[in-house]
Amino acid sequence: MIIKGEILSHSYQGKGYIVLKNGLIKKVQQDKPKEGKDYIDAEDKLVIPGLIDMHAHFREPGYEHRETIESGSKAAIHGGVTTVAVMPNTNPALDSPRIIEHVKQRAHEVGLIDIFPTSAITEGRKGNKLVNFKSLASHVIAFSDDGTTPQSFKIFLEAAKFARAVGKPIADHAEIKELSGGSMREGQFSKRYGVSGIPDIAESIAVARDIEVARYTGAHIHIQHLSTKASVEILKNAKKRTIPVTGEVTHHHLLFTDEDLKDRSPFKKVNPPLPTQEDQEALVKGLIDGTIDIIVTDHAPYSKEEKSTDIESAPFGISGIETLLSSLFLIAEMYEISFVSLLEKVTWKPAKIFNLGLRGDFAPGYVGDIVIVDPNKRWKVTEKSLLSKGKNTPFLNRTLPGVVELTIKNGKIVYRGDNVD
Ligand SMILES: [Zn+2]
Repeated sequence: MIIKGEILSHSYQGKGYIVLKNGLIKKVQQDKPKEGKDYIDAEDKLVIPGLIDMHAHFREPGYEHRETIESGSKAAIHGGVTTVAVMPNTNPALDSPRIIEHVKQRAHEVGLIDIFPTSAITEGRKGNKLVNFKSLASHVIAFSDDGTTPQSFKIFLEAAKFARAVGKPIADHAEIKELSGGSMREGQFSKRYGVSGIPDIAESIAVARDIEVARYTGAHIHIQHLSTKASVEILKNAKKRTIPVTGEVTHHHLLFTDEDLKDRSPFKKVNPPLPTQEDQEALVKGLIDGTIDIIVTDHAPYSKEEKSTDIESAPFGISGIETLLSSLFLIAEMYEISFVSLLEKVTWKPAKIFNLGLRGDFAPGYVGDIVIVDPNKRWKVTEKSLLSKGKNTPFLNRTLPGVVELTIKNGKIVYRGDNVD
């Protein structure tokens, strides 16, 4: 297969041709290649590596009414995402090789994207008893109790020692539960809107703990969904001291703030909560200066019934895997950041940080995961246009830039948009 277009990747940028062979990138070049029958002319379109989302909830097993591995995979390719790390807060939790292999088997049967499971840190994510790191390590890419984190310092420290010993990162949902509670970020708007507040210190203290544990143990700790200025500052300082820590931010934390909760929409209730303006500016700065390594979705679909309630009683979470790519265009425009520097945060960098092998870039031997996107077209986010079972997104009924026309996985077309000739 040969694809012609405006190529945007870490190793090649500009007009050119991608030659695929046996599902892999054979070469990328400026001149038209002679060989090849299958030819895709994406002249005026962007040709980018399949996106990598290191933080998603596909809900299977246990919560199939919210999402399944199949519906999640379909949503992913609609959003140009071809590699996904799924979090362990399923029922049962992903805390044993048997359950994790079941998820991998389902992903393989669906066959649309690559799914990398994470294992829980503690049995049932209850925070008390550590999982068997040794027996789980070869089945997963990281350990996380996402949705929560072990509240015991001792257990978290032990977890980091094991993670270090087995050579896998801990991806941590940094939150001190004693200090959190509430439905939105604490501040002038939580007061004005009369919604219970979550103080930023509930996150930043946990971030500080994680960094000290990384320093002491040498374990790689990846901090999930950073949302406060204080957290970014602590992480920045830790990186200066070459402590093995990395961090992520979601696209919704870069595009919405606590002020947007004026409508008290349960679709904007998320954990960690939407940041203040000041926090958001720090997140953007952290993204630009490299303090924050990657962008993720924290895709958290819920059924209509579960979110059809008031803000205080609704569950936390935003369905986000289909709006990630469009959000990159919005973020690039809003903050005057180059699109390619944002693209790296969802392709090449996550692959590097999590040792995902040759993916997220266009170089010889890399996996043939390719997305063709029309940056000049727009699409409307509706319950119908979203393929995820979860329609709980603050983008609902908004029109977004960037339409995915083709998603190619391992050299095969797995998604074709409506507007492709
Ligand atoms: Zn989380």
